[in-house]
Amino acid sequence: STKSMKIQEIATCFHIDKDYALKTLKRAYGNDYQSTNLMSIKEAERVAVEIVRKIQKKTPQLKPRPPIVTVMGHVDHGKTTLLDRLRNTSVAAGEPGGITQHIGAFSVPMASGRTITFLDTPGHAAFSAMRSRGVNVTDIIVLVIAANDGIMPQTLECIEMAQEAKVPIVVAINKCDKHGENSARIKQELLDYSVQLEEFGGEAQCVEISALTGKGMETLEEAILIQSDMMNLKSDPNTLADGVIIETKTAKGLGPVATVLVQRGTLKKGCVLVCGDVWAQVRSMYNERGTLIDEAPPSTPVLAAGWKDLPQIGQECFQVKSRAEAQKVLNLFSELWRRDMEEKEREKISLKQKEERKNVKREERESRGQRVRRITRVIQEERRERAERKRKGSETSQASVIIKSDVAGSLEAVEEILVSNQPTQMKVEIIQTGVGNVIEDDIEVAETFKGVILAYNVSVSKAVSQMAAVKGVTIISHNVIYKLMEQLKDWLQDQLPTVT
Ligand code: GDP
Repeated sequence: STKSMKIQEIATCFHIDKDYALKTLKRAYGNDYQSTNLMSIKEAERVAVEIVRKIQKKTPQLKPRPPIVTVMGHVDHGKTTLLDRLRNTSVAAGEPGGITQHIGAFSVPMASGRTITFLDTPGHAAFSAMRSRGVNVTDIIVLVIAANDGIMPQTLECIEMAQEAKVPIVVAINKCDKHGENSARIKQELLDYSVQLEEFGGEAQCVEISALTGKGMETLEEAILIQSDMMNLKSDPNTLADGVIIETKTAKGLGPVATVLVQRGTLKKGCVLVCGDVWAQVRSMYNERGTLIDEAPPSTPVLAAGWKDLPQIGQECFQVKSRAEAQKVLNLFSELWRRDMEEKEREKISLKQKEERKNVKREERESRGQRVRRITRVIQEERRERAERKRKGSETSQASVIIKSDVAGSLEAVEEILVSNQPTQMKVEIIQTGVGNVIEDDIEVAETFKGVILAYNVSVSKAVSQMAAVKGVTIISHNVIYKLMEQLKDWLQDQLPTVT
């Protein structure tokens, strides 16, 4: 199969035999690994990472490593404030005068001599990016819940994410400087969402903190370390390094730089790293205080310079022995990548053809029945009104509307509502309707008729909205019909002074 061919190639590239590669994979992915036939480039890369890890050292010498923590929670519950406070702890404990830079993660040294690494990428972006690649660097999630606000939609999302990723939660009830009295209720409510706190016989720890005043911070840090001890987090620092890209940017004087969160081995100056289709020879490394460092052991985030191009956030990178080796791996990947794209393209085309055939059928079906009746009705009404206007002798102003909708049913609904609730400002004339995304043609028609496009539950590509902006065409896009109508009314209102 394609899959075993690819494994063969990867194995060859890493100078190992195919059986060993397969065994490695089975160990990494379990038995159902063989069941799918197609191997994506992502998989291929992961395979390579696994293989590299295994061939580096068959018996890893595991040593304890710091926990990697992600702070999550509903908006405004105090994530930023908490991270700022933790970061300042790290500055205070570190070299004096250091200014913390945002590199996507930072390490906090504890009084006990231990360290906690916090990810502080905005929102859940990096977490999701990693999850979508099946990569998970987070050991522990600190779930921030504001005492005054309680469990909110995003709190639940975070709980779901944590449970799905099987990452343990430490609950931090925040803003306890003011609203501590509500924490009992929150603790009780957490039970409803299968977060069982220790005090109810469960496993999750809960601490009451104030990110603003600093109250409970030490307890929180202790709770994280206790959780970490239970997980027995270990890694081998004496092997070739690998890690995950947390953040990237192009820095003045340094070129493309990337924060690598080291997972195994020790990243050193001069190391050659491969990450997807880019590579680096690490020229210099900095910690979050901008201090040059020579070595980064497991669980350490470092800003590494020396990349030939920006690697992708959330992607795994691994050390190879030389530049030549890097080139070989990249060549292999680009070949796999190209084939992968071709396969996907073929799949997409056949899907599109299927979809088109289905659409044609749907339109045919509809055109026989409702569509004819509806159009007839609209035209009749139009005629009646025109006659009426003629009789009155005064032509009112008109607005042309183009409607695009996701499916035939919703298109009809939008038309019905528009026809039956004619906005009062202006006579609305539907000049064109269609199922599907807003496309260039729609803009052309709208421009010709000086009309507006109503887009219900469909997407508008960047190119199309740019074209609309250039041509001065308004696209009103929403997935709630009444919002669409409201915005149409506003638009009509705006047209009035110039039209009348
Ligand atoms: P985020 O959206 O979760 O990052 O929340 P922020 O950290 O931006 O905090 C939202 C607001 O809550 C800000 O005005 C903070 O000053 C405030 N805040 C954060 N932590 C506390 C706290 O412990 N006590 C009080 N009283 N206010 C807090």
